Formats: sequence, structure tokens, C-alpha cells
Amino acid sequence: MQKSIYLDYSATTPVDEKVFTAMQPYFLERFGNSASQLHPYGWEAESAVEKARKQIASALEILPKEIYFTSGATESNNWAIQGLIEAWQEEAPQASIHIISSNAEHNSILRVLEYAQKNRHVEVDFLPVGTDGRVSTEQVLQAIKPHTKLISLMWANNELGSLNPIQEISKITREKKIYFHTDATQAIGKIPLSLKETPVDLLSFSAHKLYGPKGVGALYLRSQNPTVQIRPLLYGGGQERGLRSGTLNVPGIVGFGQAMDLVKNQIVEEFKKALQLRQTLLKIWTEAEIRFRVNGAINHSVPQILNITFLEPEGSFQLPGISFSKGSACHSEKQELSHVLRAIGLHSLEAEKTLRFSFGRMTTTEELKTLSEMLFSRFKKIK
Ligand code: PMP
Repeated sequence: MQKSIYLDYSATTPVDEKVFTAMQPYFLERFGNSASQLHPYGWEAESAVEKARKQIASALEILPKEIYFTSGATESNNWAIQGLIEAWQEEAPQASIHIISSNAEHNSILRVLEYAQKNRHVEVDFLPVGTDGRVSTEQVLQAIKPHTKLISLMWANNELGSLNPIQEISKITREKKIYFHTDATQAIGKIPLSLKETPVDLLSFSAHKLYGPKGVGALYLRSQNPTVQIRPLLYGGGQERGLRSGTLNVPGIVGFGQAMDLVKNQIVEEFKKALQLRQTLLKIWTEAEIRFRVNGAINHSVPQILNITFLEPEGSFQLPGISFSKGSACHSEKQELSHVLRAIGLHSLEAEKTLRFSFGRMTTTEELKTLSEMLFSRFKKIK
């Protein structure tokens, strides 16, 4: 592979070496199925899964039994929405259901909510985010109807890093007895957070965004005050207390547990380091008189995600040797804005100059300096 500076940690992270070491035996000698309860291979696998569940619960300050393993956040999001709707419609088939979400959510929320509108007669309001990529508590309060059953808002936005006021909204939903689901895929592992301090009812997240392996994630379901009642998405052997069937991805789950252990122990330091890296980068660019705009909410965002629109007219954004992402999808000659950039009011002409850099655990100041030098040369402004 060509050597490239990796600045796309929001797309995925490398597996931490400690995570890889913890996983390895579960591919090799400890390969048992955690559902095999008649021999030591199965017992060993089951105990590894339960250890991981405890590690994850401890990092989030919840109970181990409130974690249900899935294949990732896409599945967790689909399950949360479909599972709740099915449970409500089974209990009261004629009752109206209203759900509040936003227009800047991940597609795994948007698409399933659109499906529910079309095929399950569910009323959904997609609140428009502000130019900072956030939903306000006032918008939420105004949107609540007598039959609002669920609010689903992401903790941190994957393109902008903007943080929604999750704590304030969780107070509203508790008071009004409305379920609160949050897609925390881009928040866990980036900022210190605890579900004891922020009492949501359902939460989705994924291991590969926090130095764990791909293909494993979890859905948190509150077990008390209230007990979240949800129908399964997958039916079969009855794993995960009958709610998520399928042989468990034991090595993946072990890696997920280890990754969350590292998050628990390192998050404060890593958060500070990310803040510093972001500050350094913005300072270098400002001093070099590069004209740019930070999209999103700089004071209310995860510091690891920087979404930038460069304002220099002559800039070109081929950055060989840098791995980053763009908030636009190019279909042949047509330049299409992502739904998130459209939601914050960007024009398609700005899309070509809008880049997302996301950094993480392994990012160094040197790497950011190399990126900056490359940008300066594109702007013909080498200093
Ligand atoms: N939600 C958000 C906010 C994400 O960023 C992503 C991954 N891009 C997902 C959900 C889907 O996660 P997974 O890849 O684990 O299905």
C-alpha cells in the first residue's frame, strides 16, 4: 500500500495492538461457540463474552445486562427504531406513533425512519439542524406532541463533529416519559461520557470507531426506570436473552471489551490531546493566512473531527499522501452535497472545497504539519 498519513479516524480506526493481542486466542485455540454449554470450549467463550460485557458496562457506567451485542451501529440503529415500533404496534395496533429525529442523522437512522413513515404509518418529524449542525432543546420542546413516543438524535455528528445537547434533551424525555435513543457512534471514545450522568434509554455504538474490530457493535437498552420493551430484529437461536439471535462474534466482542477498557482508562488524556492537536492545526493555518471556515460548532463538537471549507478560489484538493474524506459524493460530472452539508446550508459549489479531517490516538503534530505544508503548496503560499 502507498504510504499515506491517515486523517480519516471517523471512517474507521486501526485496531489497537492491545485489542489485537486480546482477540488473537479467540480465533485460534479458544474458538468455542459461547452457546455451547456442554464443554469447556463453550464455557471459555461465554466467560470471555461476559467479561467484555462488564468492561463495556463499566466504561459507560451502566449494568452489563443492558448491553446487547450486534454487528455494528447500523444494525443497532435499525433494531432500536424497528424494535420499538413493533413493540408499540403489537401492544396497541391502532394508537398513533410520533417520532422526532433530525435531518443530519446517519443514513442508518434516516432510511429506517423513512421506511417506518411509509410502511408502518408512523409520523416522523426530522428537525432541521442549525448552521452549527445541532438541534436545540427549544426545537425539541416545540416538536413534542401528545403521541410522541421516541426522540432519536445523534450524540455527535459524523461529518461535522457537532454535539447535540444530549444531557438537556435526556432531562426533557425523562420528565415527559418519552423514550430517548441516541446514536453515539462518533461520541464514545472521542469525549468523556457516562450514562449515569446522561440518562438515555437506548444507545447505539460500534467497536471499529474506537480502536476495536469491524463488524461488532452494541445496543444499550435501559433495564429500569423505564424498562425498555423492544421486539427482536433477528429471530433464531435466542442468543442475547432472546433479543438478538445469531452465534456471537466472540473474538470481535473480546476486542470490543478491551477497546472500551482502554477508552475508560485513556479518554481524558486522549480528549485533551485531540483538543491540542486541533488548536495547533488551526493556529498553523491562521498564521499562514489561509482563508477557511470551520463547519459545525467549534465550541460544541468532538475535537477529533474538523470539517473545513477552504475559501481560497484557486485551491485544488488533490492531497496525495493524505487520507481524508469529503462531505460530497461525486457521481460522474455531477457534484452532490452530502445531506449533512446541505442541512447546514452549504452550496454545492462549496462542496469541492469542503474536507473532513479526523484524527485520533496515533495522530502526531508532525503529521498535521505535513498536511499543512501540502495545503500551503496548493494555495501557493509556502511560508
Ligand atoms: N452512525 C454514525 C454516526 C456513524 O458514523 C456510523 C459509521 N459511519 C454508523 C452509524 C454506522 O456504523 P457501522 O459502520 O458500525 O454500521
